[in-house]
Amino acid sequence: MTWDILIHRGTVIDGSGSPGIIGDVALHAGRIAALGPALAGEAKKVIDATGLAVTPGFIDIKTHSDFVLPINPKAESKVRQGVTTEIIGHCGFSVAPVLPGKAELLADYLSGGAPWLPFREMSFPQYLDTFPAVAVNTGMLVGHNTLRLMVMGLEDRSPTKRELGEMIALLEDSLRAGALGMSSGLFTPPGSFAQADEIMALCAVLKRHNAGYFTHIRDESNKVMEAVEEAIDIARACGVHTEIVHLKCSGVDNWGKAAQILDKIAAARAAGCDIDCDAYPYAAGANPLKNLLPPWIQIGGKETMLARLALPEVRARIRSEFAEHGLNNWGRIASWEAVQISISPRVPHSAGQTVAALATARGCDPIDQICDHLIADGGATRVLIT
Ligand SMILES: [Zn+2]
Repeated sequence: MTWDILIHRGTVIDGSGSPGIIGDVALHAGRIAALGPALAGEAKKVIDATGLAVTPGFIDIKTHSDFVLPINPKAESKVRQGVTTEIIGHCGFSVAPVLPGKAELLADYLSGGAPWLPFREMSFPQYLDTFPAVAVNTGMLVGHNTLRLMVMGLEDRSPTKRELGEMIALLEDSLRAGALGMSSGLFTPPGSFAQADEIMALCAVLKRHNAGYFTHIRDESNKVMEAVEEAIDIARACGVHTEIVHLKCSGVDNWGKAAQILDKIAAARAAGCDIDCDAYPYAAGANPLKNLLPPWIQIGGKETMLARLALPEVRARIRSEFAEHGLNNWGRIASWEAVQISISPRVPHSAGQTVAALATARGCDPIDQICDHLIADGGATRVLIT
């Protein structure tokens, strides 16, 4: 036999959970053709993997690559780390469905994460059908924030029966077409405007389709316990598989709560609740800057928010809420050195600088700096927080 590729003497980890063993892997016609401690035969190409691991492609279960894959289909930053499958559409944010006349609304809403992605009107089935060929396999979730934005805009209230029915119909349509489940982003508008009963009504749809619920919980900082309890309540009430994504205890006042939270999740699992959690493999969070301010600043949409951020009385209220609780969904930070601009489409030279440094350079207060930056950037600034 002449193999196309022979990967020689690597530590082969087969994904079953058993320990790796040193051996050979032969590929032929794009498939694994043989595995063994020392395969005989010729190969057109031999790769010496001595000292390296040979594994199935990694599945990155929690990404926002739907914002970049269509404009960067090679996905090299993932493929070069061994990731071959990504689950996208997390944290309540999906780029579909987009109802007629609402492409700009969604583009503005997602500008803090997807400033360069073109948005167009489309149903979720059309989204799946027209997703470009990319270098990784992709599984899609429907975002609850996107559903709510399409049906209700950025309204801070419960849906009417008709509006809830519209969200359910859009979710049904998406799941029938192949969406793997629904994500929620209860930490930020408009997800934060939804009560648990709304999420439960949508999770009942997930249950019928045997689909999963993936939640960026309502609070990851000062009320993280209550937020985990809400996720457990939803999982228990609806009987859907619930994943708390990127679980963390952010804000200096909350450091050290992880053990208590993990005990709570373990107790729920022991009682038969189908709930799980995952965590980042790195020590920083990425967020649209606007989401770190109190949720009420976003009511009414982008233009209203930008006009609001210019008002001294609004800045005074933000300042006093920050003094009391720290940043929205993040809590108290050690200093403004902890917040660093990562993407700023209209103020690109600020990328890499901290809010502390930018405020010092202008001789202004950090809250004024943030508000001015958001106004200059049309609300699209993104930050890293440590
Ligand atoms: Zn998230």
